[in-house]
Amino acid sequence: MPLLDVEDLQTYYTARGDVVKAVDGVSFQIEKGESLGIAGESGCGKTTLGLSLMKLLPPNGWVSGGKIRIDGQDIATMNENRFRKEVRWRKISTIFQGAMSALNPVYTIGHQLEEPLLYHQKISKKDAESKSIDVLKSVGMNKDVFHRYPHELSGGMKQRVIIAMALILNPKIVIADEPTTALDVIVQAQVINLLKKLKREQGLSIILITHDLGLISEIADKVGIMYAGRMVEFGSLEEVYNSPKHPYTDKLLKSVPRLKGRKRKLEFIPGTPPDLTNPPTGCRFHPRCHKVMEICSRQDPPTIIQNTQKTACWLYAKRSES
Ligand code: SF4
Repeated sequence: MPLLDVEDLQTYYTARGDVVKAVDGVSFQIEKGESLGIAGESGCGKTTLGLSLMKLLPPNGWVSGGKIRIDGQDIATMNENRFRKEVRWRKISTIFQGAMSALNPVYTIGHQLEEPLLYHQKISKKDAESKSIDVLKSVGMNKDVFHRYPHELSGGMKQRVIIAMALILNPKIVIADEPTTALDVIVQAQVINLLKKLKREQGLSIILITHDLGLISEIADKVGIMYAGRMVEFGSLEEVYNSPKHPYTDKLLKSVPRLKGRKRKLEFIPGTPPDLTNPPTGCRFHPRCHKVMEICSRQDPPTIIQNTQKTACWLYAKRSES
């Protein structure tokens, strides 16, 4: 049984009277200790996907259909009270975007780390302090940080505290949404190395949500490429990066500079992502696709599976039919 099984997930928002289909029929699975990188342009639905898994959607958003199973238990239909007690932070947690604003400035780091332990595990204050210090050490921080306030820490230290908070109840899955945004490159590398270490040593499953394809190549076992609310390509890191099948994935990868190998001209994708209140018919990428065919604007492409690589594109459906 997969650790996380997402099946045909649909998450919608209302905005100015319209329905925005931010995630529309996304399916994927990850196993224990596996990491998944989810990439795509801004507005493709990757952050909404993370918020759906954590049940932290804003008031105008809701999961309209599909299943989210953790260890076989469907959490999509679980009520908020039960989810807060049994699942959020215990089985799945998140490293929020923007460490600078995710910490409460009027409480010490220790207070903020202890709070979930006291609430969920009903342990003594002394044990909560000891566990908090252990978790701080596991993310490479000195125990003195326990008594400090957020304003006394650098950006990189705050990010480590946010990671410690995500780990405090020993979850099996951690969602890291743009965990290195606004950090300098040295601190970025330290944060990524820390996530790799936690994955290796604690068997943590990580879902890394980012537009940075280089970051994903550092840490991910599997990769999902999202476009306009849909998972257009999914497979192992090697499959997706070495032989991308979907024209969108191909162009995304060719838009990233390479330091090694033969030099090549950087490519770009013309146009902008579609308005999800009224997405294009058929393949949502068809107005921007350099391989568009007549059928693409008329019908949704089926998802074709080759080995473990799944691609939603008519190019491969036609080939497999022939
Ligand atoms: Fe391009 Fe058609 Fe494939 Fe969509 S289905 S990515 S438009 S070739």
